[in-house]
Amino acid sequence: MPLSYVGRFAPSPSGPLHLGSAVAAVASYVDARAHDGSWLLRIEDLDTPRVVTGATDIILQQLYTLGMYWDGEVLHQSRRLNIYQAAFDTLLSLNSIYPCGCTRREIADSVSGTLESQLYGERPYPGTCRHGLPEGRQGLSWRFRVPEGVIAFKDRWLGRMEQNVGQAVGDFVIRRADGIWAYQLAVVVDDAAQGVTDVVRGEDLLSSTARQQVLASTLGYSVPSVLHIPLVMDKSGLKLSKQNNAAPLDLTRPMEILQKSWELLGFERLKVINIEDFWAQATSVWVQRLSRANLHGIN
Ligand code: GLU
Repeated sequence: MPLSYVGRFAPSPSGPLHLGSAVAAVASYVDARAHDGSWLLRIEDLDTPRVVTGATDIILQQLYTLGMYWDGEVLHQSRRLNIYQAAFDTLLSLNSIYPCGCTRREIADSVSGTLESQLYGERPYPGTCRHGLPEGRQGLSWRFRVPEGVIAFKDRWLGRMEQNVGQAVGDFVIRRADGIWAYQLAVVVDDAAQGVTDVVRGEDLLSSTARQQVLASTLGYSVPSVLHIPLVMDKSGLKLSKQNNAAPLDLTRPMEILQKSWELLGFERLKVINIEDFWAQATSVWVQRLSRANLHGIN
C-alpha cells in the first residue's frame, strides 16, 4: 500500500448531508483509514446560486458527530478563484479551451445524443464554436477542447471502465456563462493542489471521471485513482439527493447512521460499543476486503 495515500470528501453546501452523502463519506473515510492515509475536507461552494447559508457549518458538525475527523484546514473553493484562473490561463496558452456562444437551448435542439450519452444522461456538445465563434456571436462560456480517443481507467470498485469523452460528452464547459468556474475544472485543480491520490465518491460522478482525467493530464497533473460506490436509492427508485428532498441525517442517532451506511455499502452491521469502536472495526473489515481482489467485485 502506498504510504502517501491522500483521500478527500468534497461536499457541496447546498444543504445538510443526507444518507446518500453519508455513505460516500463513510466509504472515503474508511478507505483513508485503511491505507493509514490522510483525509481532507473540501467544501465545493462555487455554485453560489445553489449554496445554502449555514449548510457548511451543519456538514462539519454532521461529520464530527459521526466521528469523521478531517486532517488539516478545510478548503473552501470560493476562496480559490485566482487558482482556477491560473489553470484557465494555462489551458488558454495550450490552446486547449475556447469561448462558446451557444445557449443551452441551442445545444439541446441541435443534438439527439448517442446511445452512450443517453445512458449517461448527457447531451454531447456538437462542437459549434470549436473552430471560432460564428459571426455576430459573443462568447458566453469556455469549453475544453477534448482530444480524440477513449479514456480507460480502473475503478477500484467497478473494475475497468472506459469512455470516449468526445463522443459521450463533447467539449465540456470549464467556465460557465455566468462566470462561475465549472465543477470539472475546480475538482481537477483542487485534487492536484491537495495531493489527492484516491478519490472515493458516489457512482453519480462516474461519468465525470474520464473528463477529469483528460483535463488533469492536459494540465500536467497526476491522475488520482478512483473508487465509485453504488448510489443509495429512495423507495421510489430515485437517487437520494438534495434535489429529491432527501432527509437530512438524524444526528440524535449517529451510530444508526453509521450502521445503515455500512449496510448500504454491502457489509453486515458491526457489533460495536461506541463510534470509535465502529471505525476501528469497519477499518479492519475494509482492509480484509482490500486484500481480496482490491475491492473489485465486492458485491
Ligand atoms: N461536490 C460534489 C458533490 O457533492 C462531489 C465532488 C467529488 O467528489 O468529486 O456531489
